[in-house]
Amino acid sequence: MPQDNKTSLVFDHVTLGQRVLFGFGRARSNLADEVARLKARRIMVIVSERERSLAEEVAAEVDVAVWHTDVAMHVPVETAEAARAVAREVEADLLVCIGGGSTTGLAKAVALTGGQRVVAVPTTYAGSEATNVWGLTEGKRKTTGVDDSVLPVTVIYDARLTLSLPVDMSVASGLNGLAHCVDSLWAPRADPINAAMAVEGIRVLGEGLPLLVDEPGSVTGRDRVLYGAYLSAVAFASAGSGLHHKICHVLGGTFDLPHAQTHATVLPYVLEFNAPYAPAAEARIAQALGGCDASAGLAELRERISAPQRLADYGFRRSDIPTAVDIIQQHVPEGNPRPVSEMALTRLLHAALDGSDPRDTFTEE
Ligand code: NAD
Repeated sequence: MPQDNKTSLVFDHVTLGQRVLFGFGRARSNLADEVARLKARRIMVIVSERERSLAEEVAAEVDVAVWHTDVAMHVPVETAEAARAVAREVEADLLVCIGGGSTTGLAKAVALTGGQRVVAVPTTYAGSEATNVWGLTEGKRKTTGVDDSVLPVTVIYDARLTLSLPVDMSVASGLNGLAHCVDSLWAPRADPINAAMAVEGIRVLGEGLPLLVDEPGSVTGRDRVLYGAYLSAVAFASAGSGLHHKICHVLGGTFDLPHAQTHATVLPYVLEFNAPYAPAAEARIAQALGGCDASAGLAELRERISAPQRLADYGFRRSDIPTAVDIIQQHVPEGNPRPVSEMALTRLLHAALDGSDPRDTFTEE
């Protein structure tokens, strides 16, 4: 049959190999089974002090060689070095990280140089557990890299562990997941497979977040958001970082803004900026959010769940904008649907700083 080159489907997709165990109230038994299956003997549990008691319940059936609780967001190199020294000292052969993306990030930093396997038990919706991306921060600059050795061999999802995550943090973290999905649709390695994951992630998160907000103790809402977070991370790992991630990465690494809240706040502005130049992605986002306009659908969802509004609330200042724009410009992904000028980035950050209406941001561009 003759091929029509204009319509034939061509892509190069890599699916990461990882076991995923999902089940409410099953983390404890699933972890014990995984440790046995992996024949691990020297287990280092990485958890922040705040989630320690939760982690002790999860690891109750496991013989733990060391508990490491020195965890910090964006993985400062000193924090990574300290954890690597502990791993060497106890000759850890398995890292079990129980917590949010900061905890997973630290386990990845240890595995990057030590080669240990990682089992991740996430307690937020950040999604780091399903990616082969590591991050380290040194001298106010965050560096990320891709290395399959940091991909957790197993992820154990248990929405019961997220019940204690406060609603505002759950909303911010869930929107971090939504941002993975949206940005995946125009990221450098966007393809039909990761787009399918992303669109389903948007749909599930769009349904789950209002349920979670209405009833934070409900299994359905928590399960749905956790499942959506996994889909979002798979899409992101496969598609790579788009413009949104590059912006948030600079804001987090250089200005130490909180990861989830930053993603949640910046997303509507990047969507508003790119959407007119990415009509197919726009239509799919709109449809997944149950409407006919992506930005309006996101605005409606954000209002419904009281999403974070202003970067100013998280320590970003007007005087930081020129430096941020300067660094972001060095990282703009090739192939972003819309050319990214210094003026556009400046407008975007001013609007996100103040929480002004995304629709008024790029009117003169
Ligand atoms: P986090 O891990 O710092 O957690 C945020 C806060 O929630 C912390 O205070 C934590 O103690 C608390 N917390 C976590 N679970 C809780 C629970 N169940 N109950 C109550 N409190 C709980 O933040 P995050 O947003 O999960 O992750 C952000 C980090 O992850 C950043 O460093 C980011 O760069 C990284 N990240 C990396 C990737 C990747 O692919 N490499 C992807 C997403 C995020």
